[in-house]
Amino acid sequence: MTTKESIESLISLCKIEANRSILNLLSKFEIKRNGTGFILVAPNSEFKRWAEKFLLKGVSNPNIRIVERRQQEEKKEEERIYSSGVCSRYTFENFVVGSSNKIVYQVAREVSENPGKLYNPLVIYGRVGVGKTHILHAIGNNSLDLGYRVVYKSINDFSDELIRMLRQNNLDGFREKYKEVDVLLIDDIQFLKNKERTQLELFNVFNKLHMLGKQIVLTSDRHPKELTDLSDRLINRFTAGLIMELDIDMETKRNIVIRKLEEHNIRPTKDIVDYILERTEDNVRSVEGAIARLKVYGMEDLESDKEEGISFDRIKRIVANFYGLNPEDLEKGSRKKKIADARHICMYISKKLMGDVSLIQIGRAFGLKDHTSVIHAINKVEQRKKKDRKFCYSLSVIENRIKSSN
Ligand code: ADP
Ligand code: MG
Repeated sequence: MTTKESIESLISLCKIEANRSILNLLSKFEIKRNGTGFILVAPNSEFKRWAEKFLLKGVSNPNIRIVERRQQEEKKEEERIYSSGVCSRYTFENFVVGSSNKIVYQVAREVSENPGKLYNPLVIYGRVGVGKTHILHAIGNNSLDLGYRVVYKSINDFSDELIRMLRQNNLDGFREKYKEVDVLLIDDIQFLKNKERTQLELFNVFNKLHMLGKQIVLTSDRHPKELTDLSDRLINRFTAGLIMELDIDMETKRNIVIRKLEEHNIRPTKDIVDYILERTEDNVRSVEGAIARLKVYGMEDLESDKEEGISFDRIKRIVANFYGLNPEDLEKGSRKKKIADARHICMYISKKLMGDVSLIQIGRAFGLKDHTSVIHAINKVEQRKKKDRKFCYSLSVIENRIKSSN
């Protein structure tokens, strides 16, 4: 059906008198047939409103759907993101570049523009919160824009998908899907530990794609050689391309703080920037937690910090801030490991720093019915302190923060 015919049948369906100006207005719409009805794609909201008023006379008609072009594009965007797993929020444009992450940024950009041609696999490793996941999605977005087929998966999602497909007896479907990919982005390969089946299948997918000259990008919290729990042949594959460490230096961190404050519509005065720099770990998650807190409590909190005594609220706030969580999260008995760990730390610190507070009172502050769970939490922290030097250090940083402004 030509556009002219579409317009004519639309006019007769709506029972309206057509004149030149109406025909002219209708020609601005993209008109699609939808079974026996129509979809009119309006160039903007004004045209959409006009059509609703004039064609539908304000009454909805199941045969005529009027949508705005932007909405359609958003839908396409949604579909694209849904199927690729790539998050459009993380791009190269909003990644702050400084001396510590410049090279990784450049390499990632080049790889996203020439997948499979330069470094394969590309492995990016580094501490928590330095931007590994962000850069992985940025690669995804850029490659998607250039028309490549991209799949982003965290190891846990990759593993869940595999298990689901195995249950459905559809391993072939799983393999088929990954064979079609131009750029495979796998986040947090350290979580392959103890996932033998996932290791095996990733090995197969990896080999297939590598052979076909398709790009693979992996992230890890440590150098792949240190992933000693994985099979040697997998480590050999991971170390066969380019391995780069991502980190954040002070100057980059300062620029990130400024950028993030601006994104939250907070003016980045020197006082605020310094305040955040002083009170956060060298990772961006911690910065984001501090900014969120600043937004909630405002500048007054900067002053009140100095006078406040040690209270459960203060402990929750500082622990939450340190781990990039919401203080309210710590009040709920979440089973998420990160939250559970932070709650244990809060209880341990409450016992240690709050003098004569009882275990029952601590339990109550964290929504627990009795004190045995508090004992359990404190024991857990004590056990971990014996084994984990980094954890001891984190704990002492937190304790100092809690004590320091009294
Ligand atoms: P990782 O995966 O290394 O733990 P993420 O990529 O999740 O870290 O980063 C944590 C948060 O910090 C994200 O919101 C991310 O957008 C932000 N972030 C990290 N690095 C940068 C950067 N260089 N510029 C802007 N935002 C950043
Ligand atoms: Mg990550």
